[in-house]
Amino acid sequence: MSKSFVKCLACGTINVDRDYCSNCGEIINIVLKRQLESENKIQEKEEEEKSKVPSRIDELLKKGATHPNSIIRALFQVIYSVWLFIAMLIGWLIALVVAAAAG
Ligand SMILES: [Zn+2]
Repeated sequence: MSKSFVKCLACGTINVDRDYCSNCGEIINIVLKRQLESENKIQEKEEEEKSKVPSRIDELLKKGATHPNSIIRALFQVIYSVWLFIAMLIGWLIALVVAAAAG
């Protein structure tokens, strides 16, 4: 088996058969680096999709909570507090599912 010598682009240290720089911890395995970068991009997209819907509902409810009509305002404030509770619950459930999947 041949050894792979990779020079760290960040600090210039020569590393032998390593994925991460022994000196500064930079990823020096280009295949691994690309893999991690594409995984990050997918995760970022997923996070974006997830945050789109709640923020829209959030905006709508906030608008309603400042409505000139006091009855509508009170109604929206109730819905908003219920929504905050549900959003918290969903976040808690997601955390639970993620923990269960990881464990
Ligand atoms: Zn380095």
